[in-house]
Amino acid sequence: MFWEEKTLAEMSDEEWESLCDGCGRCCVWKFEDADSGEILYTDIRCRLFDDAHCRCTDYRHRSVLVPDCMEIQKLENNQFSWLPKTCAYRLLHDGKTLFDWHPLISGNQKSVHQADISLQKKTVCGEHFSEDDIVRHIVDPDAS
Ligand code: SF4
Ligand code: SF4
Repeated sequence: MFWEEKTLAEMSDEEWESLCDGCGRCCVWKFEDADSGEILYTDIRCRLFDDAHCRCTDYRHRSVLVPDCMEIQKLENNQFSWLPKTCAYRLLHDGKTLFDWHPLISGNQKSVHQADISLQKKTVCGEHFSEDDIVRHIVDPDAS
């Protein structure tokens, strides 16, 4: 239960990585509303996102291949709200606990899919989308 005893900054690399539940909710196109500052999520996947297996296909080189990929370890305190409300990093940063479906609690890597939290087989490719198409794909990542 290291996540209850340590702050995010105190965690080892292995502990940090294990916090990611593999939901893929941060692997879609996002926009910041210029007026409200709200982060708007779409269901349009990053080009490295494997929708079938719900994972990054080149995690090691992601920040080079996709410069917009969020580097969570570098987020400022006021930027954790950019993450979905279910994200373990945001939950712990905000002093909350992990959900029962988190693999660290359930002991089952598939529980994030079984609980219908992940984006497995729920995203689309936006490569040829127009601006209007993209607007139609704005979703609430915390609605499910
Ligand atoms: S939203 Fe958080 S828990 Fe889900 S894949 Fe992204 S970093 Fe991992
Ligand atoms: S580069 Fe990988 S980790 Fe980053 S948003 Fe894309 S699929 Fe997700």
